[in-house]
Amino acid sequence: MAEQRAENLSVVVHRAGDLRLENRPVPEPGPNEVLLRMHSVGICGSDVHYWQNGRIGDFIVKKPMVLGHEASGIVIKVGSSVTHLKPGDRVAIEPGAPRDFDEFCKIGRYNLSPTIFFCATPPDDGNLCRYYAHNANFCYKLPDNITFEEGALIEPLSVGIHACRRGGVTLGSKVLICGAGPIGLVCLLVAKTMGAAQVVITDLSTSRLEKAKEIGADFTIQIKKETPKDMACMVQGLLNSMPDITMECSGAEASIQTGIYATRSGGTLVLVGLGPEMVHVPIVNAAVREVDIKGIFRYCNTAGLPDSRCGASCSQATFPEMGLTWSQERPVQRKRKSCPSPTYPGLAAGAQQTVAHGDCYACIQESGHQAFGYTPLPFGKSAGGL
Ligand SMILES: [Zn+2]
Repeated sequence: MAEQRAENLSVVVHRAGDLRLENRPVPEPGPNEVLLRMHSVGICGSDVHYWQNGRIGDFIVKKPMVLGHEASGIVIKVGSSVTHLKPGDRVAIEPGAPRDFDEFCKIGRYNLSPTIFFCATPPDDGNLCRYYAHNANFCYKLPDNITFEEGALIEPLSVGIHACRRGGVTLGSKVLICGAGPIGLVCLLVAKTMGAAQVVITDLSTSRLEKAKEIGADFTIQIKKETPKDMACMVQGLLNSMPDITMECSGAEASIQTGIYATRSGGTLVLVGLGPEMVHVPIVNAAVREVDIKGIFRYCNTAGLPDSRCGASCSQATFPEMGLTWSQERPVQRKRKSCPSPTYPGLAAGAQQTVAHGDCYACIQESGHQAFGYTPLPFGKSAGGL
């Protein structure tokens, strides 16, 4: 009962411009839910939009809604059917949990389920509060070496993972990223980690481009007054070829135009940023060069994928393409002894480089339990010879 009396201060948006701090009841977890004491919650652009504009596109705040969806917390109570989590577990929260096992769930694209629950998307409440109950299957245990703050950042990182998967980023890819805001930067981190050989990133802001350079961009372009065609030429000049994949993270019309002109024939343009509903784009140019234009809606399966090595009930966060799995067990220590191939596969012939057992690509691919870190893995940096 003590928990019931505890204050559950929550950040609630009532309508555009009307944000309040309210004390709400502490929820009781349902059979498949866990009650969490929240620890870290990021403030996303969408939270700010709902506060300032009361809507994002067709999602309209019609009744008071708790903000927040980039979050981590600690389990304090589990529902009657929950077996994989226990009080005291530290978890990252995946804010989108499907309500129905519909056709989209069946094909693994549950982010497209029209009835999905998603924190802080009207009418669903978010978790910028002290106590919050969530579907236990969408809570992922954090190992001791991951902080709560890092746990909360899994959510924006997931956008980058999903965007890179949709674009088909792989070893040796040449990638253009338009926009060096937080999402452009997570796309950059993930692209390099998935093996992109070279990444060019563009923005208006010098400081954003400096940050991009610092975290691994091979080239940066500060946009001044260039036309989209000029931009495409500049990108091609830097890469010595057109990029295979463009990730448009600004939503600006001119930038989408650049994305089409810049992407190599047969390549893919991923629309990550959202801008105006209607835009004017060189669609014939894209059509006759078979440039695939793909959208993304949030993400799916970016953490905690059932994994043959962990068993279907695995509740720990995994990033298969990134060769990363979170675990407190770290059996990677055992793998080091039997490492079959202490070289990076991305190196050009004759440029063999020996690396520590356990850090090589083969180890990382084989290991189901590589500890997670924010530093991009080394093989991405070494793929320039491809
Ligand atoms: Zn967000």
